Amino acid sequence: MLRLPTFRYLEPRTLTDAVRMKVDAGPAGMYVAGGTDLYPNMKRRQQTPATVISLMRVAELAGRGTGDGGGVLAACRTLTDVAGDSAVRARYPAVARAAELVSTPPLRNMGTLGGNLCLDTRCNYYDQSYEWRKAIDFCMKKDGAICWVAPSSPRCWAVSSTDVAPVMVALGAEYRLVGPTGERVVSAARFYHNDGIDYLTKQRDEILVDVRLPAPDGWDCVYHKLRRRGSFDFPVLGVAAWVRWDRGRGKGEGGRVSEARIVLGGVASWPQEVPEAGAALAGSALDDDAIAAAADAAYKPSKPMDNTDFDLSWRKQMTRVYVTRALQELRARH
Ligand SMILES: Cc1cc2nc3c(=O)[nH]c(=O)nc-3n(C[C@H](O)[C@H](O)[C@H](O)COP(=O)(O)OP(=O)(O)OC[C@H]3O[C@@H](n4cnc5c(N)ncnc54)[C@H](O)[C@@H]3O)c2cc1C
Ligand code: SF4
Repeated sequence: MLRLPTFRYLEPRTLTDAVRMKVDAGPAGMYVAGGTDLYPNMKRRQQTPATVISLMRVAELAGRGTGDGGGVLAACRTLTDVAGDSAVRARYPAVARAAELVSTPPLRNMGTLGGNLCLDTRCNYYDQSYEWRKAIDFCMKKDGAICWVAPSSPRCWAVSSTDVAPVMVALGAEYRLVGPTGERVVSAARFYHNDGIDYLTKQRDEILVDVRLPAPDGWDCVYHKLRRRGSFDFPVLGVAAWVRWDRGRGKGEGGRVSEARIVLGGVASWPQEVPEAGAALAGSALDDDAIAAAADAAYKPSKPMDNTDFDLSWRKQMTRVYVTRALQELRARH
C-alpha cells in the first residue's frame, strides 16, 4: 500500500492567512482543496510538499452565487455541488455536464472546481509509484532529465486532463486570483500554458478564488468526453464547442453562427483552442458542410502523444468524430 509521507498541515480561515502561510512555506508549500489529485500524487512522490495548506475552511472560497445573469462560482465548491446546482444547470449546462463527467461520485464529492481547473498534467511515465519511476531513472517532470515520450524534446508533453477547463476556455470565463501582491482577473485561456511542467501561468502563491462566467445571452456550449470506462476515467479527448447565434433570431428560427470556439482537452499540455475550427463555423447555420469543415480543422492540430490511454492515431481520428457530434448536438438544441 502506498502511504502518504509526513508533512505539515495548515488550515487557514481567511484568504489573507492562506496566502501568508504559503509565502512562509516557500517552494516546499502547496495548496490543497479536495486532495483527490494532490494526495495520490504525494503517495507516489510525484509531488512532495513539506507543508500543505488546506483551502477548504476559507470562507471566501466556499460561497455560492450565480446572480445578475452572470455566474460566479467559488473555487472550493465541490464538483457534485456545481453539477447539481439548478442555476448552473439552467444557465451553464456545459459546466454542469463537464463537472458530472469527472471520475466517480466519491471523487466528485471531495474534488473541487478550483482543484479541477489547476489539475496537474498527466503522463503514463509520471503517474506511477516512486519505485516504478526510479526503475526508468525518472523523467524530466520529476526527479529526472529525459522525456520518455519524446526523448529529444527539451520540454515535457504531459497532458492537460481536466474536464472542466476546456469548457471554461470555450465560454471565455475569467478567473479571479489572489496572491501576495493583491488581486487580478485573467481569462481562462491565459491561465493555461502549453508545457507539461509549467502548465499554469499563475504565480506560485496565487489562489484561484472564483470563476466568472459570461451572461447567457445568445450563445450555447456543449462538452463531449472520450474515455475508456464511462463511469470512471480521465478524458483522453475532451471537446468543448461554443457558438454564438446571430442576434434577433431566436430558438428554432434558423439562425446563423456569428462566432464559434472549439477547445480540445486531453491532447496537449493545455486546453487547446483551434481557431481555424471556429472560423469554419462563422456565418454558417451549422449545416453538415460547415460541421465537416470545422471537424477537419480541429483534426489537423490535434496531436495526442503516446502517453495516455488508447492508441494515439485512433485518438487523433476521434477528434473529428467528437467535434462532429458536439456540433450536431448544438444544432439540434437550437
Ligand atoms: C481515480 C481518479 C479519477 C479521476 N478522474 C478525473 C476525470 O475524469 N476528470 C478530471 O477532470 N479529473 C479527474 N480526476 C482528478 C481530480 O479528482 C479532479 O480533477 C478534482 O476536481 C480535483 O480537485 P481537488 O479539489 O481534489 O484538487 P486537489 O487535489 O486538492 O488539488 C489539485 C491541484 O490544484 C491546486 N489547487 C487546488 N485548489 C486550488 C485553488 N483554489 N487555487 C490554486 N490552486 C489550487 C493544488 O495545489 C493541486 O496542485 C481523477 C482523480 C482520480 C484519483
Ligand atoms: S511527457 Fe515526458 S517529461 Fe513529461 S511526464 Fe511524460 S515522460 Fe515525463
